[in-house]
Amino acid sequence: MCGIVGYVGRQDAVPVLLEGLARLEYRGYDSAGVAVARNGSLRVHKQAGKVRDLATSMPKRIAGSVGIAHTRWATHGLPSDANAHPQLDASGRIAVVHNGMIEDATMLRGRLEADGITFASETDTEVLAHLIALEDVDDLEEAVRRALRRVHGAYGLAVLDARQPDRIVLARNGSPVLIGVGERQMLCASDMAALVRHAQQVVHLEDGEVATVTADSFSTSTLDAQPSVKTATSIDVEAHDYERGNYEHFMLKEIFEQPDAIGSTLRGRLDTRFATARLGGLNLTARELRAFRRVHIIAAGSALYAGIVGAGMLESLARIPASAEPAAEFRYRNPVIEPDTLYVAVSQSGETADTLAAVEEVSRKGGRVLGVVNVPGSSISRAVDGGIYLHAGPEVSVTSTKAFTCMAVAFALLALHLGRLRDLGPADGQRLIQALGELPAQAAEAIRDTAHIQRLAQWLSSAQSAFFIGRVRGYPVALEGAQKLKEVSYIHAEAYPAAELKHGPLALVAPELPTVAIVPDDELFEKNLASLEQIHSRRGPVLAVTHRSLGDLADHEILVPRSEPELDPILLGLPLQLLAYYAAVALERDIDQPRNLAKSVTVE
Ligand code: GLU
Repeated sequence: MCGIVGYVGRQDAVPVLLEGLARLEYRGYDSAGVAVARNGSLRVHKQAGKVRDLATSMPKRIAGSVGIAHTRWATHGLPSDANAHPQLDASGRIAVVHNGMIEDATMLRGRLEADGITFASETDTEVLAHLIALEDVDDLEEAVRRALRRVHGAYGLAVLDARQPDRIVLARNGSPVLIGVGERQMLCASDMAALVRHAQQVVHLEDGEVATVTADSFSTSTLDAQPSVKTATSIDVEAHDYERGNYEHFMLKEIFEQPDAIGSTLRGRLDTRFATARLGGLNLTARELRAFRRVHIIAAGSALYAGIVGAGMLESLARIPASAEPAAEFRYRNPVIEPDTLYVAVSQSGETADTLAAVEEVSRKGGRVLGVVNVPGSSISRAVDGGIYLHAGPEVSVTSTKAFTCMAVAFALLALHLGRLRDLGPADGQRLIQALGELPAQAAEAIRDTAHIQRLAQWLSSAQSAFFIGRVRGYPVALEGAQKLKEVSYIHAEAYPAAELKHGPLALVAPELPTVAIVPDDELFEKNLASLEQIHSRRGPVLAVTHRSLGDLADHEILVPRSEPELDPILLGLPLQLLAYYAAVALERDIDQPRNLAKSVTVE
């Protein structure tokens, strides 16, 4: 959510900054702006609305080879031109772009106003611009350090000073900042997406670090001015990973990338010799892994639903009690951290603020925590003891598809690995390895008949509301299916364990309320049919996602290839993504950037 881009080099900064902002658009934002340093002064252009409107209205005089830019996701003050970043100090010498939130901004603003300073915006960020400008020191980096020592909060920052127009100063505390090292030019950004076209190498700042970036060099130090040493690593994603190609939307592209993405999550990890999963990044010995008596998964949104899928796999394959909980609930309930519980944090971006805070809580209390994360080098991936990278490639659409699926695959690998350390025999191990290997082709099969799913979506799109039901393995699939539909089509959807229907929600079942039922051909098949009978006899329409036809009990069906029962949730979820996608198409929604939502939720 919210984005920073900076450029120091020899070309005009503005096109690079605007292109960078456009690449960050997917994260969701409400306003945007640019500042460049030129001839001893700053030139600023900012406004509420889209990046392309900012580009169209950009005055010619805004040019220069050093600049910073921002897409804002408001926390303090409505989206407006005045509240858009960059925020300036009173004299217009210092410009700041900021991701995150200054917690004591109100108190600091009061003090500054008492000293006679007039504020031009309602943002917390403006406080920083004034504080930096007030520091009586020539060096910008030192001024930033001193100002930051006076505030509490979370930030990724880029600062420009008219008096030192050859540099950008960066700082990070709780919100990512990356330096992109190019040839005779440097970039900085809050997200790799904005760097890929112009930089070959990347440096991740740590919390509590400050950096100065010029066209030819960068240096980093801590908030108390101790120099730190960083090495740049090469950037392993490509610009086209962030491009839509021939697809109408990123969501659709990413749905169809899933067979390959699952393949990437599995690559090199299936060990047929010992009938287990090879997971090099866990950083725990077999003995340590055996000593855990419970697994507790912490995550938010779709990652939480992937975690519930994962908990089911861990229980059934490794016979280890496993549960999943929203990270924000976990972090605020003063959780008991048990030495024999393995904690697993799940996040696509690896920057989800609530999940990161939950990880820190576990670590602070001495617990062991693994990460299931997509973005390498992200905050969560660095805060955990070890983990599993998804290798799903960048996920650009705000609504998660391939990351969700690959999280479930990663949990299958973890469950297989832990299972084989316990009671799962080699024959069962081989059975799962075989089934995992078949998943990419089966995933392609599950999303092949788009015309059929599109027709069903068209039908579903006229509903005001929908139920999603499933039992045990089908239940988290229902949760995620309802989530997808809500997120992109804005149709109200609720998921229930199928047996819960009769304990209340059945009161709503009627011809105008469709139910999407997840009905795998497993030991609960008959039970699911009983739930469908209850809906059917109240004339509620049913769309079943199933392995075999249900006859009269379903008005519509989507048939999905069968895997091993433990892995079925992975495939059953796939058509529900397309269903949500096409329902949103029918309703002409803003699919890649649903209203009110943002990718990578880095605020509480
Ligand atoms: N707290 C700042 C504001 O509301 C920055 C929000 C963001 O991260 O974009 O302006």
